[in-house]
Amino acid sequence: MGAAENYKLDSFEIFRNVINNELTTTAQTRHAINPSTGEPLPDVPLSTPEDVDRAVAAAQAAFPAWSGLSQDERADYLSKFADAVDANKEELITLLGREAGKPPQLATMEILGCVAQIRGTSKFRLTEEKVEETDERVVTVRHVPIGVGVGIIPWNFPALLGIIKLSAALLTGNTFIWKPSPYTPNTALKIGELAAKVFPKGVVNVLSGDESLGPLFTAHPGVAKISFTGSVATGKKVMQACAGTLKRFTLELGGNDPAIIYPDVDVAKVAPMIAQLALIHTGQVCMAAKRIYVHEDIYDTFVAAVANFIKSSIKMGMSNDPEAAIGPIQNSMQFGKLQGLYSQIDKQGWKAIPVAGSSFGNNNAGGYFLAPTLIDNPPEDSQIVVEEQFGPIVPMLKWSDEDDVVRRANATQMGLGASVWGGDQARAERTARRLEAGSVWVNHFVSVGPLAPYSGHKQSGIGAESGMEGLRGWCNIQTVWTAKSSSVNGK
Ligand code: NAD
Repeated sequence: MGAAENYKLDSFEIFRNVINNELTTTAQTRHAINPSTGEPLPDVPLSTPEDVDRAVAAAQAAFPAWSGLSQDERADYLSKFADAVDANKEELITLLGREAGKPPQLATMEILGCVAQIRGTSKFRLTEEKVEETDERVVTVRHVPIGVGVGIIPWNFPALLGIIKLSAALLTGNTFIWKPSPYTPNTALKIGELAAKVFPKGVVNVLSGDESLGPLFTAHPGVAKISFTGSVATGKKVMQACAGTLKRFTLELGGNDPAIIYPDVDVAKVAPMIAQLALIHTGQVCMAAKRIYVHEDIYDTFVAAVANFIKSSIKMGMSNDPEAAIGPIQNSMQFGKLQGLYSQIDKQGWKAIPVAGSSFGNNNAGGYFLAPTLIDNPPEDSQIVVEEQFGPIVPMLKWSDEDDVVRRANATQMGLGASVWGGDQARAERTARRLEAGSVWVNHFVSVGPLAPYSGHKQSGIGAESGMEGLRGWCNIQTVWTAKSSSVNGK
């Protein structure tokens, strides 16, 4: 039997917690909903405070041996873990699609992204830096693991966002507990089973539960670091809770990303990219373009091109539809929020540009489907511009002056990502560098990867993930002051 066969999971229908490499369930269980159909997904554990204590104790017990391995040894484990995810990718793609509302095109990108992230992260090595050397002493700065880390994950990228945290935590010598969103627990639990096949006991644990589970971890004295991805409102609660035991934390929060379009763009090429950038995962992406500022000289042509592309080329469908580019809204809570926003179209007198086309409405009985909609130049202070919509309803806004559009783009408490599009590359880059955001893209589709850090400015977050910065976020600094023995002991 080849290595890949050893990693194949028997079942993708039974879901258990992974604590100390044991698969256990709980007295009570719960289930999430398939957003394409409204039907229940398989039951998952409803973890209790006792389960949390057991997981933290297991991760604490595993820490000395795990942190004592070399980076090369830990990277070898990660490499096997990537093989294990890869060996089960077909089943994981189907499962993720079903629970997250991602058609195969999107679910495939996420699962393959997980494998790439693990492999990319495992190539990094933290190095020690000698900051001073004299006849008397050597001063060395090193990065050491923190202890037990918990990753708290949202529902929009239930697999990849957990994997980003897990890979960085483990490479740097921490042990890890993965807490998925109650809306999307299934894929994480299966990835946890794969981890149990690869890592020593207690190094990776995965616990599902309801909304009461996250606070049990942020309050727990045995947890040393919280890496949180989610909304700004919850991020603030996490930060407050971490203060209790002075836990380290990383916060990756919401965004209200502007895209600025100069009049010298190639409309035929850029309009389809903007349409996809706004509607990727039905707009439920932290770094999706959420405010599209189009220069007034091309506004009408550009908006028409975006609308036509959506109508003709972005098919919305269920998670089993291989032709669909986008799926339903992921859950009832977000669906309700968005219905409230759509109801503002009439109340506020916004002009909606219909873009649903013939592709909308197929097989969507029971699912949380909403028709993609562009809003034509709403007031700058309207809810659709000011708030992160996180759905397929997108404001198109007009601009004429560079300073003014930069001011409008920056006039938000969010600062996650931003993009600038223009034929004059230097001008577009100059504008991008003026934007208050952790990632800026110049004539470039939104992109993240294992090599480059991403982070939020302002209320979009604190700390970074991926790249060397992401690894350092999983470490304490230790400065070693060593007297040269000759200067003290005379040897
Ligand atoms: P959310 O804040 O509601 O939930 C995120 C996670 O926190 C879930 O696992 C939830 O169970 C848990 N949680 C809830 N209350 C908690 C508490 N008091 N203490 C600890 N944990 C708690 O976010 P969501 O609705 O799942 O995700 C959507 C949001 O996430 C959007 O705002 C989006 O922009 C943001 N997001 C940001 C990034 C990024 O990298 N910056 C990436 C993806 C999503």
